[in-house]
Amino acid sequence: MRRSRRIESVVDAVGNTPLLRLRNVTANAPGVEVYAKLEFANPGGSVKDRPALRMITDALADGRLTKDKILIDSTSGNTGVAYSLYGAALGVKVHLVMPSNVSQARKDITQAFGTEIIYSDPLEGSDGAIRMVREVVERDRERYFYPDQYANPSNPRAHYEGTGREILEAVGDRITHFVAGLGTTGTMMGTTRRLKEHVRPIRCVAVEPEDALHGLEGLKHLASSIVPPIYDAGVPDETRPCSTEDGWDMSDRLAREEGLHVGHSSGANIFIAVKIAEELAQRGEKGCVVAIVADRGDRYFAPLKWERRYIW
Ligand code: PMP
Repeated sequence: MRRSRRIESVVDAVGNTPLLRLRNVTANAPGVEVYAKLEFANPGGSVKDRPALRMITDALADGRLTKDKILIDSTSGNTGVAYSLYGAALGVKVHLVMPSNVSQARKDITQAFGTEIIYSDPLEGSDGAIRMVREVVERDRERYFYPDQYANPSNPRAHYEGTGREILEAVGDRITHFVAGLGTTGTMMGTTRRLKEHVRPIRCVAVEPEDALHGLEGLKHLASSIVPPIYDAGVPDETRPCSTEDGWDMSDRLAREEGLHVGHSSGANIFIAVKIAEELAQRGEKGCVVAIVADRGDRYFAPLKWERRYIW
């Protein structure tokens, strides 16, 4: 049984997330182990706790961020929740720019931590929010710290030093495959670099939505997006597409068959992990596949999301 521990700050509860062996959705892959790394166990409920905290602490350490500055960014998703939480814990003021039509739940959860929201034009979507942040920062560079998670090396570093190291601690060099989705690409870049330093051969597989228009929130269709500066195409061994339907269906199966209620990007990662396991089993090979579970499914309970399900 895991021992209870006493901690001094919510910051100390980040990381050391468990790896859960999936036994039921893997019925057609005998002899292959599949593990889900449960990133929803972080205090902010997602895989973005690690990089958000690291971007703040690295910037505080080298003076790019001071307590009289405001952290500003344009995310309404998991990174926004994590900035808000760790900003509150570390005494850093946070402003987030989001399109005014994001769900009430997203506004409520970030505001609960004292974050101030600036609304951008809903018709311009997330690109409009990014443009607005850049304009605001440009007008007063001294007042703001803009972490820019797509270009910030602290993002992959958090996964190199945390996620990758912890996977090695849990399964060692038995790991044969690692699976993660691409958003900022920080999880894939940092974790894969760490794993490849210690395990050869290993196959690291990036998961990407099949189409530009998709319902796998948190993931990017790189072919139709601005490629993040931290992304290096030479790091993953392979990129596999996943359809919205397959990601959603696996999320449903994980809830019903494993007691694991996860978001849809996680459904996509596990869908690909199980597929890899089944391919290995068909060839009579053994293996150990580790996939990222980025967040919990209840983050997507907002009414708008449920309606979208029936559009696709
Ligand atoms: N899944 C979810 C739910 C996310 O919020 C994110 C972050 N955008 C990702 C996957 C992708 O992670 P990364 O930014 O490290 O590529």
